[in-house]
Amino acid sequence: MSKADWQGKHVTVAGLGVSGIPAARVLHGLGAVVTVVNDGDDERSRAQAAELEAQGIAVRLGDGDTLPPSTELVVTAPGWKPGKPLFAAAADAGVPVWGDVELAWRLRGLDGREPAPWLAVTGTNGKTTTVRMLAAILEAAGLRTAAVGNIGVSLLDAVLGEETYDVLAVELSSYQLHWAPSLRAHSGAVLNLAPDHLDWHGSMAAYAADKGRIYEGNTVACVYNAADPATEDLVREADVEEGCRAIGFTLGTPGPSQLGVVDGILVDRAFVKNRQKQAQELAEVADVDPPAPHNVANALAAAALARAFGVAPAAVRDGLRAFRPDPHRIEHVADVDGVAYVDDSKATNTHAAEASLAAYDSIVWIAGGLAKGATFDELVTGCAKRLRGVVLMGADRALIREALTRHAPEVPVVDLDRTDTGAMSEAVREAARLARPGDTVLMAPACASMDMFVNYNKRGEAFADAVRARAAESA
Ligand code: ADP
Repeated sequence: MSKADWQGKHVTVAGLGVSGIPAARVLHGLGAVVTVVNDGDDERSRAQAAELEAQGIAVRLGDGDTLPPSTELVVTAPGWKPGKPLFAAAADAGVPVWGDVELAWRLRGLDGREPAPWLAVTGTNGKTTTVRMLAAILEAAGLRTAAVGNIGVSLLDAVLGEETYDVLAVELSSYQLHWAPSLRAHSGAVLNLAPDHLDWHGSMAAYAADKGRIYEGNTVACVYNAADPATEDLVREADVEEGCRAIGFTLGTPGPSQLGVVDGILVDRAFVKNRQKQAQELAEVADVDPPAPHNVANALAAAALARAFGVAPAAVRDGLRAFRPDPHRIEHVADVDGVAYVDDSKATNTHAAEASLAAYDSIVWIAGGLAKGATFDELVTGCAKRLRGVVLMGADRALIREALTRHAPEVPVVDLDRTDTGAMSEAVREAARLARPGDTVLMAPACASMDMFVNYNKRGEAFADAVRARAAESA
């Protein structure tokens, strides 16, 4: 679409949120006639509405289900469920629905600049980490780039802002992919697939299908996880450009067209001249921070996308060395009395907690919070042998305790029956009591934090504060 196509176009923006407000502003700036519809009608939305209205954008609060009559296009917040009546009304009226990603994709090149290709990443866990690793590698290769999506630059800014880019490292959620039918990434990766957000998508098959959209129309590489066959199935089902290759990543020895690990070295057997006989060394496992197995997998996925874009092996190494993980993701806080204390507050689901529990040999596990419908049997079975003890807290801790009783009855469990702010100090104290030198106290709750904390950041900070207080006492 050209700029002229937007003039006078009646666009309904669904949702006054982090994506809706900037979308409304941008569309209004392009000359579209914008109406924002929003379910909520609280003080905050009224203040936001007043600001938009002052700029000439119409806002309807308290009714996110009625389609304004002249609407020609709906731009929705990614979180809005596909079953909402607004979308049925749009379908009846023959009006297309785009999400924030689709809008950004369609607005690329609007200012006449050559649009930057997208290297896209999705998956149940590891998206943010992988996208940031990828951006670090691309930067090390001297490319103008940004990590875009949940973190860093917003998609709209990335495609329309002052800055120009050679390539973008883009994080995409399953919701965003659902609403992005025409997105065509240069190359895409699905890191892993575990049940999550099923209430939104309706079924595991629908969730997987939305994730699989990342591969549609890829031109160079579809990157999949060789340990997660469901991701490879999605590659097979995708309609890609002629010549686009399926590239696997594995923590084992790579086969042809894969990246993997040999004797502590990350190697590439995909983007080399003779992949039957040759392998290219990229980096050492020790260059990955932290070198936990799932994180090495993230590094391999990032490396695969970078190599698909033509980045040299040395830049993969330099980028991984320059990368530092975000806080609360397997973050080593301190060693106290020979025990390591690790904050993985971002492990808000069982799949994420499983990855960090797999990274240590002898663990005192701090867990619990809001389970969001999850079950814990598989998680507990997988790590039972490595548990020195468990400290449970939060609203749904009984679910974890029951799984422990079933699968690890010999492991000592401390059940903290409190949800006040002091609970984390007590949890750390109890964990310290259970731990022996050489152990790791791992706060990887496998649950959301909102029963006790504002968010997972605050939960992680509470843990780190409690650990530091302990360190000070012990010094
Ligand atoms: P996302 O952006 O997908 O939420 P993050 O990179 O922020 O992912 O990591 C979220 C959580 O998932 C962290 O607790 C981290 O330890 C865990 N995690 C990261 N990468 C993986 C992976 N490849 N497999 C499983 N869990 C992972």
